[in-house]
Amino acid sequence: MGIRGKLRSFIDSLIPPDERSSNPLIYRTVFLRIALLTFLSFIGSLLSFLYALMDIGEGDVAVAVVELSVGILLFFTPIIARRYKNIEFLGTLAIVSFASIFLVAIFDELPEDKSSLIWLGVVPALIFILKGKRGIYWSAIYLLIHLGFITWAGKVNMEALIDSYLSYALATVILYFYAWMSERYREVWENIARTDSLTGVLNRVAFEEAFLREVERAKRYGNSLSLILFDIDNFKKINDEHGHLSGDRVLRRVASIVSSSLREADFFARWGGEEFIVLLPDTDLGKAISVAEKLRRRIESSRFGDNLRVTASFGVAQLSSEDDRTSLLLKADKALYRAKMEGKNRVNSFLTDIPIK
Ligand code: GH3
Ligand code: MG
Ligand code: MG
Repeated sequence: MGIRGKLRSFIDSLIPPDERSSNPLIYRTVFLRIALLTFLSFIGSLLSFLYALMDIGEGDVAVAVVELSVGILLFFTPIIARRYKNIEFLGTLAIVSFASIFLVAIFDELPEDKSSLIWLGVVPALIFILKGKRGIYWSAIYLLIHLGFITWAGKVNMEALIDSYLSYALATVILYFYAWMSERYREVWENIARTDSLTGVLNRVAFEEAFLREVERAKRYGNSLSLILFDIDNFKKINDEHGHLSGDRVLRRVASIVSSSLREADFFARWGGEEFIVLLPDTDLGKAISVAEKLRRRIESSRFGDNLRVTASFGVAQLSSEDDRTSLLLKADKALYRAKMEGKNRVNSFLTDIPIK
């Protein structure tokens, strides 16, 4: 593994389990945020060491010791964050350390050098990058501390202060707006990444994510978990006889019938083509079969248009203690295959010897 690969896998190892996603877009967003945090804590630690060196040079040993400790703490922050699986902590520490370094810099040089107030704007910008919209509270706290700090030290240069606070206020408004916008964008993108564009239900990637989580949860807590796989009957014929657009309409309609028949806790996705999948947490085989039967009847009795009858075949299976995702899916698939073989428009189930619960 090259240095890039090593860095990549180190940052990957920092991702907390509940933020880890099999959705590539979401994974990338989380990865980039954590990479940025790691980079900042490294830069912060470097800066602290530099300041410490300068202060040792000037004989300011007490300050240097504080800076050295901050530097060491920052350097090891990513490792501590990984140990305690807490990334929020990494962000907070990075902000607090940067803020204190800049405050010290401002304090050291005021009022002789007004330009040091430039640093005042850097911390809020960092805060918004790291904390998003909530950055506004952190910025306010930071400014208050700054104000208290220089007032207490009697180092207020009124003219410079007003200038920099005005420019800071302006920047804060813009940064807040930007953070708000990018959070909205992110929501929109995450939704797009999770949704099947034709039917509006979950897509396969989003389903896999929920599937992984629910199988783990069911096994950990010994809850039952069932899976329904269904496939529209003779769909090729519908396409051939009524056209592809009618076919698409049927898919949307079936998706909406099924969506409105399920509970909030269930996961429903388009698995591919004219095949759909439903995951039912806290549901045993018997109950899952009745859910599938209800769906089958609703599809069968719905009107799709003149001369168009739509039916579907269903395969149902319940998670057993030996099952993983793949084997559960395989069982539902086998049951679906049998439903097709036995004449379609029916529910078939895969009996498991030792279901969970
Ligand atoms: P069976 O009852 O055994 O399931 O037969 P079937 O005709 O439903 O199954 P088959 O797998 O032979 O055909 C599925 C068809 O679904 C073929 C494919 O063109 C069509 N299809 C897949 N995705 C879409 C889509 O998004 N829109 C439309 N209109 N058709 C699609
Ligand atoms: Mg079919
Ligand atoms: Mg099919």
